[in-house]
Amino acid sequence: MHQIKPVLSGLPFEALAETLKPLPQFRAEQVFQWIARGVSSFQEMTNLAIPLREDLEHRFSLSSSIIAGRAADPDGTVKLYIRLHDGERIEAVLLTDGEHRKTACLSTQAGCPLACAFCKTGTRGLTRNLTSGEILEQFLHLRSIEPEIANIVFMGMGEPLLNLPELRKTLEVLTDSRGFGLSKRRITLSTSGIIAGIRNLAATGPEVRLALSLTTGDSNLRSRLMPVTKSNPLPSLKDVLYDYQQQQGQRITLEAVLLGGVNTRQEDSDALAAFAAGLDVVVNLIPWNPVEGMVFEGQALREPTAREIAGYIQRLKRRGLKVTRRLRKGLRIAGACGQLGPPGGLKAHEGP
Ligand code: SF4
Repeated sequence: MHQIKPVLSGLPFEALAETLKPLPQFRAEQVFQWIARGVSSFQEMTNLAIPLREDLEHRFSLSSSIIAGRAADPDGTVKLYIRLHDGERIEAVLLTDGEHRKTACLSTQAGCPLACAFCKTGTRGLTRNLTSGEILEQFLHLRSIEPEIANIVFMGMGEPLLNLPELRKTLEVLTDSRGFGLSKRRITLSTSGIIAGIRNLAATGPEVRLALSLTTGDSNLRSRLMPVTKSNPLPSLKDVLYDYQQQQGQRITLEAVLLGGVNTRQEDSDALAAFAAGLDVVVNLIPWNPVEGMVFEGQALREPTAREIAGYIQRLKRRGLKVTRRLRKGLRIAGACGQLGPPGGLKAHEGP
């Protein structure tokens, strides 16, 4: 680990202006804009006088992480290996959908404490929360290889709502019209269902899109697959989602990672439909991607069969639910949902 100078990326505008004092506000605005443009050195800030650029260079860093490697899949998925200042490694993934839209999938924690049975990150535990700068820099690194990123999803490693203070700063920076100016509607936060966090988000925003990794509506099975359920029971979770929706007025995505033979039964689709009743949702089914060595209650996890997937979709549709099926991306570079993880990596939080 090496000492680093104070890092400016990830600072919301007011904090940046405070840090740069006694520089006047308009200078802070210029620096804020340059950060949003993704410059890698103060020397590129050409509307600042050269002595000022040198002074800033002497006192601050623009970024605290570097791209340590990358892998590209022919389907358009790109995975970046990012090294943080203390040697921690995280990953961020660029996804391309059928209409060639690019989405950045970002991580919020190094590791994850929640130990979902189907997730590689869960086997690693939590190392630490990421700072707002470390979250933002993942976006900047991805944008350095693809300038046109349409959407951001927080579905990488970690549970975003367990790092809400830092994530909130990142969101403030990303949506500030003085810099990045991204629409909140293009940002999705995916949670495993942290009730206090959803309540907090509903009360104080920002109003980003919300996705819940439900996986199954069967409380007993969900507690075994996702231990977070024990302290965040499904009935209370549904209540808080309902309140969130009343306040934000936006459709919520219910994600379900389909694990062959585990949560693909009729009871599971019925329980998911029962959970969805009364909420305005779209169900996003994510056939589990193979990760070697993942075992659930003594059985090796397996991908769902085409028949299991089709049956599940059909049953949900019969109940009047809107269902989408996520295309599998990045399988060849282990950048697909559930494949990111140790050693030296991460797992997508049920990511695209
Ligand atoms: S699925 Fe998400 S919440 Fe669960 S262990 Fe993995 S990263 Fe954590």
